[in-house]
Order: sequence, then C-alpha cells, then structure tokens
Amino acid sequence: MIALRYAANAVISLSLLTASPAQVRLDDAGVQRQLIDTVTGREATHLQRNTSERLRIGASVSAADQPPPTGCRLVGQAVSIDPPNDTLVSSFPPLQLDVRTPLEPTVLASGGRSYLIYELHLRNFTSDALQLRSIEVLNAESALEKPVVAFQEEQLRELVRLVGVDSEATRLTLKAGQGAVAFLCLAFAGGTSVPTKLRHRVFSSGAVAEGPTIGTRSTRIQALGRPLAGTNWTAANGPSLDSHHRMGLFVAGGLAQISRRYALDWKKYRDGKSYSGDARDVNAYFAYGQTVLAVADGKVVVARDGFPNNVPRTAAGFTPAVPVTMESLPGNFIVIDLGDGQFAQYAHLQPGSVQVKVGDRVQRGQSLARIGNSGDAREPHLHFQVATSPDILASEGLPFLFDHYRLSVSGSHWETRTMDFPMGSGVIDFGALR
Ligand SMILES: [Zn+2]
Repeated sequence: MIALRYAANAVISLSLLTASPAQVRLDDAGVQRQLIDTVTGREATHLQRNTSERLRIGASVSAADQPPPTGCRLVGQAVSIDPPNDTLVSSFPPLQLDVRTPLEPTVLASGGRSYLIYELHLRNFTSDALQLRSIEVLNAESALEKPVVAFQEEQLRELVRLVGVDSEATRLTLKAGQGAVAFLCLAFAGGTSVPTKLRHRVFSSGAVAEGPTIGTRSTRIQALGRPLAGTNWTAANGPSLDSHHRMGLFVAGGLAQISRRYALDWKKYRDGKSYSGDARDVNAYFAYGQTVLAVADGKVVVARDGFPNNVPRTAAGFTPAVPVTMESLPGNFIVIDLGDGQFAQYAHLQPGSVQVKVGDRVQRGQSLARIGNSGDAREPHLHFQVATSPDILASEGLPFLFDHYRLSVSGSHWETRTMDFPMGSGVIDFGALR
C-alpha cells in the first residue's frame, strides 16, 4: 500500500512554484478586487461553454476544462467581499447560532484543482427565527483572516438544507431551535494555495456568528490502486449537490454522518447505455460480473455473501429481493481495513462471488469478488467508498485518491491522471486485468 501523508501538500508546493506573477501578488488589495469575477460561478459557465464549443468542432477536450461538480464553488486567487448591508451590532449575548463542522475536510486533488468538501451544521439556539444572509469562509492561517469565498442568499439557497422539513422557499429561515446543514465544496484553481486553517462567519440579520477554526488536512489521504480493471467505467454519484451520496446525511449509531460523502457508483456504459438486451436481466448489464480488486494491502474485516440479486429497476418498477435493513442494505459486502482508522468498502456484490473471508490479508490488486446487484441496488454496479468504520452507514466518508487511471471526456482523447480523485466527468480506463 502506498500511503501519502497530506498528499495535497505536494500539489500545493508545486502550485506555488508555478504561480504566475498575478498569483504572486496575492496580498495586493487592488489585484484582489480585479479578480472577483474569476471566483464566481461565471468561470464555471465559461468553462462549460468552452467545452461544448470544442466538442462541437471535434477538438480534444481536457478534463481540466470541466466545471467542478454541481454546487462546488470555484475559488480563484483571492476575493473581495461586500459585507451584508445590515449594520453589525456588537451586543451581549452574541448571536446564539451554533456553527460546527462534524468532519474537518482534507484537501483532495482532482483534475489540477484542489477541493475542500465538508459541511457546516448550524443550529438556532434562540427563541426567535433567524434569517441566514450569507456565509463567509476566511483564511485563518494569518491574523488578517482574508476571505476565501462568500456565499450570498441565492447560493445559500442551493447548498443549505433544513433539518427535518426542508423547502427551497423557507430554507434560509431557521425557526427557534431549528437546525440546518450547509453543504460546502470549494474548488481551488490550479496555482492557488489552500489555506491550512479556515474559519466561518455566518451572517443573520444585524448579527454574525463566528464558528471555530477548522483544519484542512484532517485525515491521511490513501493513494489507492484500481478497484476494477478494463475500460468504459463511469464514476457516478460523486460529491455534487445532486448526488444522493453527497447529501446522504444519516443517523446511525446515534450520530448524523455522511458515510457516502466521497462514494462512487461504478457502472459501465456503451453508446450511452449501461446494458444491452433485457433490462430486467442482470446479465444484460455491462458492469455485471466484472472482477472487483483490492485497492490496497489490508485485512478483510467484513466478507458477507448470500444475498440474492435484485431484478433491476425498469419502468415496471423495483422491488428489492429482500427487504432493505441495516444488515441487507449493502448486499454482499467486503470491507478491507486500510489502517489508520480507514476502511475500503465494496457493496452490492454478486451472490456467490465473494472470494475472501474475515481475517484474510489481501494484497493490492488481488481479486476479491464480482459486481452484482444485491442489497439496495437498482442496477448492477460497484458502490465503493472509504469510511471511518466498516459500517456502510454508521461512519464518516473519507477522501481518497487513485494513484493511476486514464480519463476521457470526449471519447477520443485520453489523459493520464495520477494521484487523482475522479469527480464525475468522463470515462475511465483502469487498464486490462493482468
Ligand atoms: Zn452508491
């Protein structure tokens, strides 16, 4: 197993070496103001337009041209933030809004960008409703605490969810005692250093709550080998706001956690379809029966077999072969202890295909099982995640990297990615099974 402590540091130092003159002048307030436009969603729109245009004319498109996942905010060099119009009143007691981050993020490299993906859990401890106005993310590395990015009401409406009953119309109003979660994703452009510490200011009408300082290198990033072999793989349901994985806050073991924060659903597509023939037959799916590989050396701590395949979901509907319970949800399931409190989890495996047992030591690249459609799976795929415990739900999802894969976003041009997390765009080639 190759493990890199704070792999992202390498990315950051490299970025500093290659910084352009404009980036070097980070401290210049004038430059900061000029750069405001580059840190808004406008850059993402531009990237999208640029990519579509190049695809249309048949030019090769690099994955680096792709916008970050939905809800992810591109961060350029620096930001100038307009404070809310309200005059902030310094009063006692301070704003009784709890601001905490259950799992501090760890910088994750993807496509030349550095990502921070995490949540702020907010709770109104007053007896009156609070109106959320904006959230500022500050660089807490230096005493100056420069703003990194600010989310105004329109953006907050996209990334905040009320605990309990949520609706887009009311989600910025926290009733007395109510909680909300802000799902944050910051994508730092190549060449931009990622602060080691952040703080958050949450503005309500006329008041501000300051959250505690959080770190941005909280866990060791595992550099993993391939979980599958061959080509035409897509890594679906990655960490975007429209992914049930990313938004999968779930209370298990008494804690509200997101075990699936970085989970990927691996499927195979040909000509835009994941199967050929009878959609109700698992054998018709290109992913079905494909070999699943150990991503690292480690010890098997869960190896469960015997759950039947489901009939895949079609327009005719879906009924799981066995009722979904905490036990049956992952279906046939393998978990490998990677060390340091990190566990690689493989779910929905083919019945009868599990080749390892609890206590076995496996080697990176070793064949473990085959892709199936067991547990809470609508069609054959591999659900893969790294988490803080062997439990598929009672854990926190951790970031990881693949040490090597090839990616194509245009179907013809392939680029090699090393020490990289696939954020969702494109088709992945892991190389032939040896
Ligand atoms: Zn999944």
